[in-house]
Amino acid sequence: MESSSFSRVHGGRDERICWICLNGDVDVLRQDWLQPCKCRRTNRWVHEVCLSRWIDEKQLSSPETRVSCPLCHTEYLIVMPPVCRFDALLERLDKAYGVVCPSILLGMLATVAYIATLTYGVLTLNQVAGYKASMRLMKEDPTLLMIVLPSVPAALLLLRRIDWNNWLIHWLRRRQRQQLAGEHYDEHGELLPGAPLGDDYYDALEPADSDELLQGGMLNVENIERATCRFCITLSLPTFAVVLGQTLYGSVQSKLLAFLLGALTFEAIKGAICIYVRQCQYHRKRHRHVLDYTPDNPQPTAAATTTTTTTTTT
Ligand SMILES: [Zn+2]
Ligand SMILES: [Zn+2]
Repeated sequence: MESSSFSRVHGGRDERICWICLNGDVDVLRQDWLQPCKCRRTNRWVHEVCLSRWIDEKQLSSPETRVSCPLCHTEYLIVMPPVCRFDALLERLDKAYGVVCPSILLGMLATVAYIATLTYGVLTLNQVAGYKASMRLMKEDPTLLMIVLPSVPAALLLLRRIDWNNWLIHWLRRRQRQQLAGEHYDEHGELLPGAPLGDDYYDALEPADSDELLQGGMLNVENIERATCRFCITLSLPTFAVVLGQTLYGSVQSKLLAFLLGALTFEAIKGAICIYVRQCQYHRKRHRHVLDYTPDNPQPTAAATTTTTTTTTT
């Protein structure tokens, strides 16, 4: 603030001008003048009321913030009236409350998450081993109950990271690669301008799974939808595995083997559908073309123009 330009010399001494409201002593003689910092000449004057308001503004977000003069950076000495012991105790209690409450909340959330994962683990064990066997297992080995069972959903979600159908799709695409006709290359083997889009272009269109989340930020609606779908499908895997194991592999003696076979079948069916849908979308995109505009061309209908952008969740 160029406050020096406002200084007006009055009879040899600096006139007092508040650097906040820029008023002096001309109209009203005010009694609340302060010189709270090292500033010289006119800049050193400020009204107590103006400064008070200014300090409140600075301390709006956190009342403990130290406030200094914006020009000379001298910290203002703000003296609070003394508090009695009872008030001080209440204040300290209030602060302690602010520290303890978030920790309690975090602890409660962690407990809820633990109980939820434990329940899920117990239900899964029940489904896989049957009620009696799972009860016996949990009675014999309580550590199983406490440690292994809550980690079941986490393990399932980690297993989900093995994205075998993505690998399979890339393998299929690599097998189906079509070399562009020789007429599109020059003598050095470089693509000529105007050549059709090649395999490399379409491969790059499909982001790797790890990049998916980074596209448009984590909180993109589509990403959230995809993540929740993935989460639900992953956690429903044991249920589907048990049902498929019982219906398709009922003759298998071992319950666990039937469950594993059921899980593999579920994965295979789901993966096959996902690969089929993604390959269809890929081929439709590769073989689309844009028509020249002529008055005879039919108006594009909504159904024909909307390219299906639904991506399958795996
Ligand atoms: Zn003022
Ligand atoms: Zn100052």
